[in-house]
Amino acid sequence: MTIFEKIIHREIPAKIVHETDDFIAFHDANPQAPVHVLIVPKRAIPRIGETSEADAELLGRMLLASKEIARKLSVFESGYRLVINHGPDAGESVPHLHIHLLGQRQLQWPPG
Ligand code: AMP
Repeated sequence: MTIFEKIIHREIPAKIVHETDDFIAFHDANPQAPVHVLIVPKRAIPRIGETSEADAELLGRMLLASKEIARKLSVFESGYRLVINHGPDAGESVPHLHIHLLGQRQLQWPPG
């Protein structure tokens, strides 16, 4: 079981900001910006590159929810970034698909 499944099953705590039947969003434990939230499907999909057509609706709903979360956390106007890390070079550390939502500071481009 991944650490995110433990959060989904309430076996370890997290600061949850949004939840539906299919996904959950909570604050990152090691935030890289003043606002750093992870949007995580409840189904244990390992990573973005292992999704399929069957996941299209779920992925779409997670992306649509990101704008509501951005509004809720007051970064919609100032700006925010969505990031998905796939594999070692991208820095993926938890093998359970998640979208990072980062904001409330000036983010650099290109990312490090
Ligand atoms: P990634 O490197 O893209 O796989 O992102 C994994 C993220 O999960 C990192 O930003 C971690 O800080 C975060 N993380 C790991 N464990 C926890 C936890 N228990 N609660 C919240 N965030 C976590």
